[in-house]
Amino acid sequence: MVKKSNKHVEHNDGKQPLCTIPEMPLRPLDANVNDQRASLIRVTEKKWVNGTVLHYYFHDEPSTWRGGDDQKDAVRNAFSEWKQLGIGLEFIEVTDPQDAEIRIGFDQNDGSWSYVGRDNIDYATDPDERTMNFGWDLTTDYGHDTALHEIGHAIGFSHEHQNPKSGIQWDEAAVIDYFSGSPNYWSEEQTRHNILRKLNENETDGSDWDNNSIMHYQFPSGLIIKPEAYQNNPLIPDPGLSSTDIVEALHFYPGLDINLPELRPWESHRIRIDAGRQIDFLINPKYSREYTMQTFGKMDTVMVLFEEINGENVYYDGDDDSGTSFNAKITARLVRGRSYVLRIRLYYAEQKGEGALMMW
Ligand SMILES: [Zn+2]
Repeated sequence: MVKKSNKHVEHNDGKQPLCTIPEMPLRPLDANVNDQRASLIRVTEKKWVNGTVLHYYFHDEPSTWRGGDDQKDAVRNAFSEWKQLGIGLEFIEVTDPQDAEIRIGFDQNDGSWSYVGRDNIDYATDPDERTMNFGWDLTTDYGHDTALHEIGHAIGFSHEHQNPKSGIQWDEAAVIDYFSGSPNYWSEEQTRHNILRKLNENETDGSDWDNNSIMHYQFPSGLIIKPEAYQNNPLIPDPGLSSTDIVEALHFYPGLDINLPELRPWESHRIRIDAGRQIDFLINPKYSREYTMQTFGKMDTVMVLFEEINGENVYYDGDDDSGTSFNAKITARLVRGRSYVLRIRLYYAEQKGEGALMMW
């Protein structure tokens, strides 16, 4: 007699509940912004400046939002998993929602969702509200992927099955019918927003379709007409982060350089980086006074000033000039004896290297 394996095999036909992210307006850009420039802005605008410390908080009130320790640990472990890729973001759990950019609930009747990247601070400003919810058990293999997926949104990644390069041709009626039932109960509008709508080329990074991405939904058979392989088989991404997920995370958030060039008053620094990349400076002010930091040239950038407090770089001020004819500029009082870091991510430059940064 053949001994049966006692290894637990999760039978998965692709019929799992799925994430539904809040619908947000597209930020307006100046009318004279051309497609190429708009595309480069859209790729990066929801990403955090690399080196940002993201604080997360677990809501205990109301009690319907409260999660058990096993659920919280699953989220903590998922944050660690992203961090262990070697990315330049930091994740720190805090005990006051006022200190948190990411505020997490476990309402089991509200599905799983998260705001995307900087939408967390641009739109979700009330500390009593959630920016992320988990609506099912996170201790299963599928729950583990859900935790990784929602954190993927929180650090600025969108849904991969809506990648315009996926080439997926849906059986629209079957998709709307399937998602109107258990376990999702979506309206047609939600299904169109979360699945059928292809992201505009401008909203994605232009990369090829990765059907193993953690940001890809799974689908039961019968919903996809093309590619034909999924007509009679479910589309189920491999568990965990895909190799492309890892490459993308490290592209936007590479490990930090700890030896930063110093930014001194009246010295001009040329900015020679490619679109999407970032340049960082250390500021050790010689005098306590008001300083101004500004970029020059036809560039779109986001500029963020951090102050080092107890070994942590704490957000001080920021400016984003993307899609406008202005330059990024911060005026702030800096204090002698303290240390600051200025981080600038480039969305777009009309001519590479034809831009500069100065502080005075
Ligand atoms: Zn999602």
